[in-house]
Amino acid sequence: MGNRKGFRNELSLRLAGRQRFQVILLGLQQFSDINRRFGHQLGDAFLYETARQLEHLFPKGRVFRFGNVEFALLLPYPDDDGAARLQTIRDRFEKPLTLGTDQAVLTVRLADLLCAGEHWTVGRLLEALEYSLDLARKGDGEPVRFQGQAAQMLQRRKDLVSLMRQSLQERRFRVWYQPVWNTAADAFTSAEALLRLSTPEGEPISPAEFIPLAEESGLINDLSWLVLEEVCRLLSGGTVSALESVSINLSMQQFLDPDLVPRLRRCLETYALSPTQLKIEITERVAAQDIGRTAAVMDQLSGMGIHFYLDDFGTGWSNLSCALDLPFQCVKLDHSLLSAYPASPRSRQLIHGLVALFHELDVAVVAEGVETQAQADALGGCGVDWLQGYHLARPMPEEALVTFLNTAEKEALPRV
Ligand code: C2E
Ligand code: CA
Ligand code: CA
Repeated sequence: MGNRKGFRNELSLRLAGRQRFQVILLGLQQFSDINRRFGHQLGDAFLYETARQLEHLFPKGRVFRFGNVEFALLLPYPDDDGAARLQTIRDRFEKPLTLGTDQAVLTVRLADLLCAGEHWTVGRLLEALEYSLDLARKGDGEPVRFQGQAAQMLQRRKDLVSLMRQSLQERRFRVWYQPVWNTAADAFTSAEALLRLSTPEGEPISPAEFIPLAEESGLINDLSWLVLEEVCRLLSGGTVSALESVSINLSMQQFLDPDLVPRLRRCLETYALSPTQLKIEITERVAAQDIGRTAAVMDQLSGMGIHFYLDDFGTGWSNLSCALDLPFQCVKLDHSLLSAYPASPRSRQLIHGLVALFHELDVAVVAEGVETQAQADALGGCGVDWLQGYHLARPMPEEALVTFLNTAEKEALPRV
């Protein structure tokens, strides 16, 4: 079986000769479960068996080890559309592989690409294949072919990464702020900083789309420092003195960055801020990456007086033990928890139970995505500490925030 280098060489020969071929990538899902169950030696044997099965299914093909748990299969250009070959692989891997007395069903994900002699470079072809396998891995088990939609999506990602690079250089990212209502103080005393990006034509791009891409492409560091700097500048300017604090969102990479703590310290010093003015929001996905390290960084920053919010509680990424084991001062209930609230009795039970539990543990609660007066009333009634949502205030640029905080009349605000 060839390796990745062999695969590249083979591809470049075929591309140079303008040959027609089909490439199929096979990725194994959750292979660590197999290693855990059988041990690494037998795990490796299952990998070799996977390759052997592919060779057996397609005697005219060539199999390469593409990654740790990924294989590439180079095949002659199909007579039909090549989909039958994908089905053949799926059928085979629905049945267990057998090694001596051991049997395992491996979960496979498939991606493929048909090259009919078009002009590709090896790099672009590998990028297309890897992207398609990535989509297949995130999908529901259907193979992903690199054409049409997948090709457009990859192009959009590439365009977006270059837009982000350019926007960073030209300082075109903006930080917006969503005021957060403090139910005890009956006032907006906090805000969350949220990044904003638009195309040169002014079309806004959702952070839900560009943040994950910034994380993958390594741009998130620059973006996070930009937000930190902006927030510190805003807080030190005296224009938003109604705000006791502003929270920023940090991704995984910042936590693993050894520069995080000194950087935060420097920023607070430069702008003469109290550490309590800055709050940090992280999701459990960030925290769970490396619990030991996260705990150490959080302890260090908590020691300095910076507090943490556990973001998006109630989505797939959160569990109670994370909230309990790490020094979070506050938990943010995700807006998905509010979808049937307060109309549904179950939803009321859930929210009120969670609020009581967190308060018992001395953890404050923010409800996110408050969209109606009924929600605000019910949440305020059950003792939620902070409310955030379109019903109270939308995210807004800095100038609008200043006006909002300085001119907002109490009567004009929703009564909570
Ligand atoms: P998040 O941290 O959960 O931020 C709250 C999101 O909820 C914001 O979306 C906000 O506009 C939206 N939202 C606020 N009130 C309501 C409401 O009443 N209803 C609904 N449906 N949504 C509401 P946004 O600004 O689009 O940001 C999306 C996500 O992008 C954020 O979710 C956060 O995970 C990420 N993000 C934004 N800025 C940054 C940043 O500077 N750094 C990092 N690492 N992530 C960021
Ligand atoms: Ca957040
Ligand atoms: Ca959130």
